[in-house]
Amino acid sequence: MNKNVYTFLGCGSAYEDSRVALFGAPFDGTCSNRPGTRFASSAMRAESAGLETYSPYQDRDLADAAVFDCGDLELVFGSAVRSLEQIRQHTERLLNDGKLPVMLGGEHLVTLGAVQAVVQRWPDLHVLHLDAHADLREDYQGERLSHATVMRRVWELVGDGRIFQLGIRSGERSEFAFARSHTALYPFDLRSAAEAAERLRRKPVYLSIDLDVLDSGCFPGTGTPEAGGVSFRELMEALLCFAPLQIVGCDLTELSPMLDASGASTAAACKVLREVLLLLR
Ligand code: MN
Ligand code: MN
Repeated sequence: MNKNVYTFLGCGSAYEDSRVALFGAPFDGTCSNRPGTRFASSAMRAESAGLETYSPYQDRDLADAAVFDCGDLELVFGSAVRSLEQIRQHTERLLNDGKLPVMLGGEHLVTLGAVQAVVQRWPDLHVLHLDAHADLREDYQGERLSHATVMRRVWELVGDGRIFQLGIRSGERSEFAFARSHTALYPFDLRSAAEAAERLRRKPVYLSIDLDVLDSGCFPGTGTPEAGGVSFRELMEALLCFAPLQIVGCDLTELSPMLDASGASTAAACKVLREVLLLLR
């Protein structure tokens, strides 16, 4: 008899044998519109049973990838500060063990905890940020820790010119003004993915994918849907541009599975995760 242990499809390797460590950070405490991203990682594990392990896009197979699924962190709901510290500590431990961390949100704020650990390991860290939203607010309703401020907090850690933002099509005027002088902004779509990838060559890169970069037509299962996004195929083409990069950590955030009763958004998120896992070298 075996224990009932649920992992993401094809991620059943033992910890010692794994290069990549996947974990869930089910936190949605600062969500400003419709919450529910805390259910994303568990919904994705369940939904992933319907996915193939083989990627015809990359001619690679998750069955051959050495990925360990750590499960979900038991985060302190109601405390963004303590949740981020738990995420930071967990990521730091994975890095100390020589693993490449891959985190499933949760809302986008969880990225901050992971980046806090990754930038300690890679001081020259660059962040590749795919999103509908700039997430560059100084604060949101007076709160500095929010999914709407996460890239501003990341900028405080990595500095000018280190954040590459693609697909951005929403934010305050001040966020776009901030981006002009402090980040590399490629708004609206992912057509500049190859150019961004060229500029990121030989840099340690943290890849942060807010899944609402996808169009709300093909990805309605998210708390802050934003019309005018990219298709799955456009996202896939961008990901393939990132294959030569030195990705040292990554995350997928903002799937809110219960907002799309059809399950199609969760299935799309699973497919994105499969492709990201197969991208990692
Ligand atoms: Mn977003
Ligand atoms: Mn975001």
